[in-house]
Amino acid sequence: MNAATPCRRAGAAAGRERGHVARLYYTSLLLAVGFSAACLSLTLFGMWLTARSERFLLTLAVSLLFVVGDIFVYDAYIDMPGRLLGIATLILLLIGFSAMLGAAYQFRTGGSPVRLTLVGCMSLLVTLPPMALGYDGLGFMFENLFAALLLFATAFEYWRGRDEAPALTIGITALYSATATSFALCAMVLAWDGKMILGHAPSNWAEELSLIIVIASMTGIGALSLALNQGRLARHHRRNALTDPLTGLLNRRALFDMHGNAPVGTFTAVVVFDLDSFKAINDEFGHAAGDEVLRVFARELAANLRPTDIAARMGGEEFALVLKRTLPETVETTAETVRTAFAARRIETESGSLTCTVSAGFAFGTKEGLSFDKVLSAADKALYDAKRGGRNRVTASPLRRVS
Ligand code: GH3
Ligand code: MG
Ligand code: MG
Repeated sequence: MNAATPCRRAGAAAGRERGHVARLYYTSLLLAVGFSAACLSLTLFGMWLTARSERFLLTLAVSLLFVVGDIFVYDAYIDMPGRLLGIATLILLLIGFSAMLGAAYQFRTGGSPVRLTLVGCMSLLVTLPPMALGYDGLGFMFENLFAALLLFATAFEYWRGRDEAPALTIGITALYSATATSFALCAMVLAWDGKMILGHAPSNWAEELSLIIVIASMTGIGALSLALNQGRLARHHRRNALTDPLTGLLNRRALFDMHGNAPVGTFTAVVVFDLDSFKAINDEFGHAAGDEVLRVFARELAANLRPTDIAARMGGEEFALVLKRTLPETVETTAETVRTAFAARRIETESGSLTCTVSAGFAFGTKEGLSFDKVLSAADKALYDAKRGGRNRVTASPLRRVS
């Protein structure tokens, strides 16, 4: 009996020691999550500063700050499981995850994240009362449940936006889903235990697993979100480089990117349009009025296209159309339709209303295939003939008959 007592004491001390080590291990993991989330938030904030149009980066950075706050408060709660700290940790985590959902919606739609964030925060209405009344077991169970729901909803937002960059968005979806599942497991273990009152932070295998999954997926989500944003910016710049800012049509470079290298066959036509006496319009009505005329013409051109036709502004007051799988009659009709519709338009500008006309020339490729450049210059020559012939007309290139 006497001999057993020091033994039992030693056993109890060893148990305490193990508990202490486990607590240290858990705290280290928790702090690792906290610091890496803080760094990620800073990185996202920095990225937003360099590309302010990408506001979802800012929302994501702010959402992570709430999560960082939650982690440090939760760490304190583990040492001092008081009611106020309990409430603070619920508020921070659920606001953080709600804002993350808002950020995902903002990424997908470009809309405001506020509405969805507020909807997510409604989860506090269910979660806070039990915690405030001292039913911490129930409070943490609801917290984990709503955290899982918010993260699944976030995953779903990225899934819905997967067309933009499938590999990256599906990766993010998988990581959010994994994190959501780990929170759902935490909720299930607490529900299974069925303790309404715990008196301390939940401590079970699901909590530890969740923390490890959060560490792994947060790094992945951060990296993928940045890659997604970089890809979006690169596409944005590329689109800008290929678009004419005044009319929104493709520019000369885009047209050559698309057609410059392929030989042009017999059933492909290029039409070149040039506005008539446009300099006189600029001189009489001003440059802004000239710009409006260019916009009106671009709209007229776009309105008469088939889905496979390509329209571009080549520069100045010169435009081109590439029509595939087409016949001379169809090309002539299309060009004539644009010409007559434009000539009939009364264009309202700030310096008065005016009308303008356009001349066009068109040419086809050949059976052997002609370079795009050559077809374009044949169409240009035909355009020159139209100008010489008195303007406001469409002329075909004789090239096909000759070759
Ligand atoms: P033509 O019937 O022979 O084609 O005569 P034109 O006056 O249309 O041709 P010209 O080449 O002499 O003048 C083209 C004018 O287009 C000169 C230039 O200032 C104007 N221009 C070029 N780009 C723009 C633009 O982006 N906006 C405006 N408003 N004018 C432009
Ligand atoms: Mg002109
Ligand atoms: Mg010109």
